Amino acid sequence: MRRLAAVLLVFTLILPSTMFAGDDTPLSGYSTRSSETEREWETKFRGIPEPANLREYMKHLSARPHHVGSPYDKENAEWILARFKEWGLDAHIETFDVLFPTPKVRVLEMTAPTKFTAKLEEPALAVDPTSNQKSEQLPTYNAYSIDGDVTAPLVFVNYGLPEDYEKLDRLGISVNGKIVIAKYLHSWRGVKPKVAAEHGAVGCLIYSEPQDDGYTRDNVFPQGPMRNPDGVQRGSVMDFASSNPGDPLTPGYVASPEHPRLTRSEAKSITKIPVLPISYGDAQPLLAALKGPMAPDEWRGGLPIPYHVGPGPATVHLKLEFNWDLKPVNDVIAKIPGSVAPDEWIVRGNHHDAWVNGAEDPLSGTAPLLEEARALGLLLKQGWKPGRTIIYAAWDGEEPMLLGSTEWAEAHADELRQHAAVYINSDGNDRGLLSMGGSHSLEHFINGVARDIEDPETKLSVWQRLQLSDIAQAKSADERKEFRERADLRINALGSGTDFTAFLDHLGIATLDLGYGGEDEQGIYHSIYDDFYWYTHFSDYDFVYGRALSQTAGTSVMRLADADVLPFDFVDFADTIQKYTKDLKKLLADKQEEISERNKELDEGVFQATLDPRRPTVAPPREEVPPHLNFAPMENAVELLTRSAEHYQKAWSKKQATLGGDQAESFHALNQSLIESERKLTNDDGLPRRPWYKHLIYAPGVYSGYDVKTVPTVREGIEQKRYAEADQEIVRVAKALNDEAALIESAAQMLEK
Ligand SMILES: [Zn+2]
Repeated sequence: MRRLAAVLLVFTLILPSTMFAGDDTPLSGYSTRSSETEREWETKFRGIPEPANLREYMKHLSARPHHVGSPYDKENAEWILARFKEWGLDAHIETFDVLFPTPKVRVLEMTAPTKFTAKLEEPALAVDPTSNQKSEQLPTYNAYSIDGDVTAPLVFVNYGLPEDYEKLDRLGISVNGKIVIAKYLHSWRGVKPKVAAEHGAVGCLIYSEPQDDGYTRDNVFPQGPMRNPDGVQRGSVMDFASSNPGDPLTPGYVASPEHPRLTRSEAKSITKIPVLPISYGDAQPLLAALKGPMAPDEWRGGLPIPYHVGPGPATVHLKLEFNWDLKPVNDVIAKIPGSVAPDEWIVRGNHHDAWVNGAEDPLSGTAPLLEEARALGLLLKQGWKPGRTIIYAAWDGEEPMLLGSTEWAEAHADELRQHAAVYINSDGNDRGLLSMGGSHSLEHFINGVARDIEDPETKLSVWQRLQLSDIAQAKSADERKEFRERADLRINALGSGTDFTAFLDHLGIATLDLGYGGEDEQGIYHSIYDDFYWYTHFSDYDFVYGRALSQTAGTSVMRLADADVLPFDFVDFADTIQKYTKDLKKLLADKQEEISERNKELDEGVFQATLDPRRPTVAPPREEVPPHLNFAPMENAVELLTRSAEHYQKAWSKKQATLGGDQAESFHALNQSLIESERKLTNDDGLPRRPWYKHLIYAPGVYSGYDVKTVPTVREGIEQKRYAEADQEIVRVAKALNDEAALIESAAQMLEK
């Protein structure tokens, strides 16, 4: 369900005439000789994926709606299983029964000042051949909304973020006892009902604003790629970030008959108030009937109405009931045993379930994964023997909230903790630039892979295209300098929103998340119009970026599986942690400055003086200026980390230069230790109030959802004004970093022995 924001590519630069060419220096983690062999196999591999196959896989898998528990979801799992087997892989399906609600009653009507009944229906379109599969389509709804029947005045709350409620306070408006209407985007959708409920609202509507993914941006479907007036974004609102993803009835352990299930009322991740997504066609009459103050400038959208905030006089009746059934999720798992270190695993996954036909989300990522598996099957027949064990997974139940991957990770938690070296995820794919996210110990590695992949449009390497695009979009001379001079492009830290979450955040497995995108706008996310017709008219319709994703992820899998020494690099990691430490100090300083300034303005009478008596506002409350925090433990740990990382890098370079031809030197103990490096960044007790999350460097934000909070316990401590907790967490993070530095130091010493 990953959703990349469209980024406009501005190519004002003249592209250099030098064509893309691979590199000959030995790969990191390889000897000169093993590197040559690896490059030969990888080159063969990259020649195999075919756009025509990707198109066929997508066409087949998107032919009918295939949400969790549907007949075609099961058929797709079996079809994928048959393909894995046909390609010579040892494969099976693992099934888990999980709570998956589907709609029974959906009523939304305006009862005053005029009557209006919302349509809640996406119509079939004649040109779009799968849009008429009504009997198999899930209606428009938000999964894991609680049942409810409420009638109340409506309030418009912008994107429904905590800061939007601070603005409402300034306008003197409370949502207590009201139903709120929020715009989609700018936070994960489940944050909207969560924050609304915290402010006393009794119901929540979320609509797709035309300014964000409708006609303000481009023509609407089917004339263009954007959301039409009836298009609705389905999606999960499970409060996974405050509790855990996966089956809400079996938090932290596998959903199986042997384990007790919570009752629904005990499940923490179900919403507190009923919530329903709607189209802008259905939202417009409701918004148009609001009075009260005008919405702040930046809240107003692209509908031809004055955007008032309310409350009322629009009063709405929202009634929702769901079938709270257990449904099976079918994960398809294929295994290629390792020939040198079968007990070290590289896991690669993308989900196969969708909200409806799901051509873009997820099949544009599933198809490349299948093509990788086919290509690896061919290489095996030609004599390629991966060193480590490779596991390919097509997950089910990602859309409701990472059900299939989370249950699988929980079912195999002990083995994964022991054996899994890296997890590589994708989730959908479009046309444009490579997006690289992941653990920063893999930053150097994935930069190396990106240098070896050809961009289908420019014929530069995808790395070089990304670098030049970064330079074009840099906001300052300093940024441009870094893009030009830093050896590796920085990769994004991972939040959540797709299947890597259990691997990275719960089990502490080093992770990568890959995909292409940014050149095309889209407004069909989680609607019935995300289908083969849309994808083959408005996205990567010649599937060349699908091939690039196969090449990128498949090369990564091979290079990790075959390396003599796992190619983790800790210099980029240490540099990143240093940056995060500085960011946190700045966050605190900015907050101190902001609150001091506001208190000063309150003393000066600024708010009374600038008040417009005809549009009255309320002055913000006086706040305590945040105290100083002691960052010294983290700063000391970062220095230690930097020294050990540099030591390890030197020790490896020295070692690599001495590695001979075929002599097999065993790095087993070293690799076992390196596998542990990401685990060291976790803590068994987990994060405060959400113990399922164990990673101290990366986590989804409690109030941002998919968006990452780096060093989450310290950052959220500052953001949420829990300063004493932030101070304690600095110590806990520093301890993890010290342990990490000790592991890296001992790895360096192993290389020097
Ligand atoms: Zn997806």
